[in-house]
Amino acid sequence: MSFLTRLMSAAMICCLPALVWASQPATAGACPVLDVADDSARHNLMDYVCYHSADPEDAAHQATSPEELPQSLAWTSADGHDLVFSHTESVYWLNLRLDNTGSNRGFWYLKLDYPLLDEVTFWTYGSDGTTRRLATGDQYSFASRGIDYRYFLLPVTLGPQEWLDVTIRIRSSGALNVPLSLETPAEVISTSNHLTLTHGLFYGTLAIFAAFNLLLFFSSGTGYYFYNAFYMAAMGLFMFAMGGFANQYFWPESAGFANTSIPLALGLCALAMTLFGRSFLEVRPDTLANSTLKAQAWFCIVFLALTFILPYSKTIILNTVLALSVIASLLISAGIRWRQGYQPAIWYLLSWMVMLAGALIYALAAFGYLADFLARESLMQVTIGGQVILLNYAMVQRWRLLNQKLLEVEHKARTQLEFKVHERTSQLRNAMRELEKANRKLAALSLNDPLTGLYNRRHLDNILPELCAEARRTGQPLTLALVDADRFKAVNDTWGHGFGDTCLQLIADILSRHVKRPRDIAIRFGGEEFAVLLPGADREGARMVCQAILDELRNTPLDTPDGGTLTMTVSAGIAELTPREDQSTLFRRADDALYQAKASGRDRVEVSTAVLTDWSAPATQ
Ligand code: GH3
Ligand code: MG
Ligand code: MG
Repeated sequence: MSFLTRLMSAAMICCLPALVWASQPATAGACPVLDVADDSARHNLMDYVCYHSADPEDAAHQATSPEELPQSLAWTSADGHDLVFSHTESVYWLNLRLDNTGSNRGFWYLKLDYPLLDEVTFWTYGSDGTTRRLATGDQYSFASRGIDYRYFLLPVTLGPQEWLDVTIRIRSSGALNVPLSLETPAEVISTSNHLTLTHGLFYGTLAIFAAFNLLLFFSSGTGYYFYNAFYMAAMGLFMFAMGGFANQYFWPESAGFANTSIPLALGLCALAMTLFGRSFLEVRPDTLANSTLKAQAWFCIVFLALTFILPYSKTIILNTVLALSVIASLLISAGIRWRQGYQPAIWYLLSWMVMLAGALIYALAAFGYLADFLARESLMQVTIGGQVILLNYAMVQRWRLLNQKLLEVEHKARTQLEFKVHERTSQLRNAMRELEKANRKLAALSLNDPLTGLYNRRHLDNILPELCAEARRTGQPLTLALVDADRFKAVNDTWGHGFGDTCLQLIADILSRHVKRPRDIAIRFGGEEFAVLLPGADREGARMVCQAILDELRNTPLDTPDGGTLTMTVSAGIAELTPREDQSTLFRRADDALYQAKASGRDRVEVSTAVLTDWSAPATQ
C-alpha cells in the first residue's frame, strides 16, 4: 500500500477525523461461518471476518493469546470491506471461522496483502482439537513467515466436514490496512505471476531511466540528470520497501530497519524531488522560491537523520508534513516558472498532476470511497511510471529549448560575424583602392621627370625592350632618336642653371608637341639628353620628325636673363631597329649617329645607316 495511504491518513487525523470515522466498517452482529467449499463465498472473505480494535485501556490490548481475550469481547463485522485503520495505539484482533462442507480435502492460503505490519500473530484452532500459532511481522526476521513471500501467508488445510477457527492479532505503528483473502495455491501463484510482469516493467523502467540519467549526468555534468536519477532510485526504493520486497531481499534479517526504511526512503524521495525541481525549473537564485526549496532540502537532510532517532509513529507524521510541503512548494514554483514563460514547467506540472491524481484515486479507494480494485500497488506503479515518463519528457523538452536557444545564439553570432566580415571587407576594399591609387601615383611619379614632365630614364629602360620585342614579333619598324642640346654647358655657365632649366623645359615642350601618335614617347633620360621612341615609324619618318623639332627650336628664340635673346639648337641621332638587334645595339647606333651629328657641326639630324637585310617579314617595311 502506498505512502499516500499514510499521508492521507495522517492528514485526516489532523483535519478530517470524520472521514476516518466514516471509513470504518459499520457494526454488525455475530460473524457468519465461511464455507470454504463455496468459491463465491470464499471470494467475499471480508463478509466473514470480524474484528475488534483494542485501545490501550481495553483488556484485549494486553491479551497475548485468544484465550486471554475477555469472554464479553464485542466483535464487529468487516461487512465486506478491507479493514483500514488510522494511526492509533490500538491492537487489532480479527476472527474468522472456516468450515469445509464439501466432500474433498482442500488446501488454501489465508493471505494478508500488507507487508508492513509490525507484528502479526495467527492462531488456528481446528476440529481435530489442535491449536497452532504463527508469529511474524516486519519486526521479526523474514524467515519467521515460514513461506518465502513478501506478503503474509497462512497455510490452511481442511478435510471434509472439518472446521477451523482463525484468530489474528495485529499490532503496528502508523496507519494500517488489512486486506485479507483466502486463495487456493493456484490463485496465489497466478496473482503473483501477473504481478511479476507489472513489477518487472515498473522497476525495470525506473532502473533504466535512472541509469540513463546517471550516464547523461556523467557525460554532460548537468546536475538535474543526477537529481532525476536520484529521485527515481529513491522512489523505486520506497515502492520496493512498501511492496515488501525490501524486507524480503534487502534486509531480511534486520527486522528493526523495516520501519525506519519507509520514512528514510520517503525522505530521500522528498530530498531528490526538491533538488531535481529546483534544478529543472531553473529557479532564480534571488527569489523566495529558491530560498524555500533550499531550506526544504536542508530540512529533508535533517529529517533523514531523525528517522534513525525518532520512533516510526513520530517520523511518519513529520514525513507527511514534509511530503505535503515539498509537493506544495514544487507545484507553486512550477506554476510561477510557467507563468514566467518557462515552457518545460508545464510538463513538470503535468507530471505532478498525474502523480497526485493517481495517489488521490488510490487513497480514496484504500479508504473505501472507490472500488477496492483501485487500491492496488499496481495503480501507484502506473502513476509513478507515468510521472517518471512525463518528467523525462519534460527534460527532453527542456533540452530542446536549450538547444533552440543555443542555435539562436549561434545564428545571431554568425550573422554578426558575417556583418563584421562584410564591413571589414568593404573597408579593406576601400583601403586597397586608395592604395592602388597611391601606387599608381607613385608609379607615375617614379616614371616621370619632375622638371619637364616627360618620361624618365626608368621608363625608357622598361619600355625599350618591350617595344623591341614587339617590333621583332610584328615586323613593324621601331625608331629611336637621341636628342642632345648643343653647347648647353655654356648656357648654364653664362645664365645660370635656372635659365638652363627653362631651356630644357622649352626643348621638352617642343618634343612633346612633335611626338603626336598615341604610341610615340618623348623621354628626358639625362641632363640635357632626350630620347624619342617612334614605334611604327621608319628612319625617314623619324628623320622628318626630328628635323621638324630642330626647325621649331631654332625658330623659337629665348629671352635671356640679361635682356638678350638666345637661339637654342639640338642635335639628333636616329637608328631604326634591325632584325635580331637588341635594344643596347639600337641605342648605341643612335648614340653614334648623334655623335656624328655633333661632330658634323651640330643642329642637324644624322641617321644610322645600318642595312635592313634580315627582316623575316619584309612586306611590312
Ligand atoms: P655639346 O654640344 O657637345 O653637347 O656640348 P654641351 O655643353 O651640351 O656638352 P656637355 O655634355 O659637356 O654639357 C652638358 C651640360 O648640361 C653640363 C651641365 O651643366 C648641363 N646640365 C646637365 N643637366 C642639367 C640640368 O638638369 N639643368 C641644367 N640647367 N643644366 C644641366
Ligand atoms: Mg650631352
Ligand atoms: Mg649637349
